[in-house]
Amino acid sequence: MEKILISACLVGEHTRYDGGSNELPYWQRLTAFFELVPFCPEMEGGLPCPRKPANRGKNEVRTVDGDNVSKQYNLGAEKALQLCRLLSINRVILKENSPSCGVHKIHDYRHPENLIDGQGVTAELLSSHGIKVLNEEEAMRLLQKLEEKKRVSAAKKEKALEQKKAKEEELANKKEEERKPKRFEKRPSSRFQGKGKDDKRPSSRFKGERKGERPN
Ligand code: SF4
Repeated sequence: MEKILISACLVGEHTRYDGGSNELPYWQRLTAFFELVPFCPEMEGGLPCPRKPANRGKNEVRTVDGDNVSKQYNLGAEKALQLCRLLSINRVILKENSPSCGVHKIHDYRHPENLIDGQGVTAELLSSHGIKVLNEEEAMRLLQKLEEKKRVSAAKKEKALEQKKAKEEELANKKEEERKPKRFEKRPSSRFQGKGKDDKRPSSRFKGERKGERPN
């Protein structure tokens, strides 16, 4: 089964900066297709939980108090890459908007209430090494596609099985018919041949006799 790295908070682990999680309502359905490898880059980089929220600037990550936490963020990203290489992981699912995991959007460090185009530190490093990075919505679409494919394939298998069963039944019935003793048509015995109810021929005794004609 394909292994896929996923933000730990998306599978219900309490790794968020405020001690919460971002549990996806559908994450368990993913386990039908993937072996999930939960990973939190910020905690793997050495940050505690809970921790101060931080935002990614141009070349650094700083907490809302102004502490530079770039080292921990970079370390977490490096560890994620190492793990992907070690486990031959080519696809990851990451939490959108996070300064580590954001896939298409992150919070603007100048105005944290706003979202801007950009990637988190881990998402960017993994993408730059050819690893496919999906956010929650993209993961959901992938899941729906896989489930539909599975449903269609199961329906095809069921139909093929029904057709096989019907053929087997037909063959069994045919064999049964062949095994049955054959019925022969009832023929009148030679003694009464030609003496059936509807046989209008005269008996041999009066052969040649016509109405009003006496036999010699
Ligand atoms: Fe979730 Fe990623 Fe933030 Fe960890 S760093 S809490 S995995 S979004």
